[in-house]
Formats: sequence, C-alpha cells, structure tokens
Amino acid sequence: MIERRGCHEIVLKNNSTLQLFVNPGTSTQNRTLVLNEWYRDQLKAQIPDLLNHWQSAIGKQAADWGITKMKTRWGSCNIAQHRIWLNLELAKKPIECLEYVLVHELVHLLERHHNDRFKAYMDKYLPQWQRCHDILKRESLRNENWVY
Ligand SMILES: [Zn+2]
Repeated sequence: MIERRGCHEIVLKNNSTLQLFVNPGTSTQNRTLVLNEWYRDQLKAQIPDLLNHWQSAIGKQAADWGITKMKTRWGSCNIAQHRIWLNLELAKKPIECLEYVLVHELVHLLERHHNDRFKAYMDKYLPQWQRCHDILKRESLRNENWVY
C-alpha cells in the first residue's frame, strides 16, 4: 500500500502484485472498500463472456446474475428465478475457478441436486472441474461450512 495525495488507484504490477494508492490517513475500512470495489470490477468484466459461452453450451439462460460477499458459499443459484450469485472472493482465485463455479451454478438449472446426474453434467462440460473443486476446497479448510 502506498499513501499519496489524489484519487485512489489500484495498479496490478507484473500480473502478480497489487499496488494500492490511497490518500494519507485513509482508514483500513476505506482501504478495504477500495480494494473490494476493484475486485468486483475485475470479476464483473470477466463474467459476461464466460456466461455467454456457457449459457449456449449448456442450453440454459440465467435471467440475472450478481456478485456478492458470501461467508459460506462460492456461488448460489436461485433455480426458480434463474438467478446466479457469485462470491466476490472468486476475484482472488484463478479464472478457471470462476468458470467452474459459474458452470456449477448453470448446471443447477439442469439438475437441482448434487447427484450422479449433476456430476455427469460437470464431467461432460468441464472434465477438469475436480482441479478447481480442490483449489476451492483448500480454502474451505479455513471455513468448515463452504458449500455451493
Ligand atoms: Zn451446487
């Protein structure tokens, strides 16, 4: 984090380091807000292309989608309303993980439960899904209740 006068700004350096520029004296809470806003923008920019691709591949449309902070879920799907929610934390993960959760939630429009039929769809659409599942599961060691 670098303090300087002027507009706050976030710069991604070498694709690995985030530089957060904020005014001197910016509170931790406001620094977090700036950072979360940036993560949200990153995520928002990635979703439409993925969604277009997977909606036509799977043959189901999400009526609406959004990004939210969730404590125990990577994503959720309101099947009746065809609405998909994605966890803001996915912005900090490889894009494959975002794609995996998106496909998972879209597949719920085909199958409500995490049963064999559900897994067969995942194998069909995203044969490497288990890899992302494991990455996200590692995270869940910190929080026993992660589900999606
Ligand atoms: Zn699920």
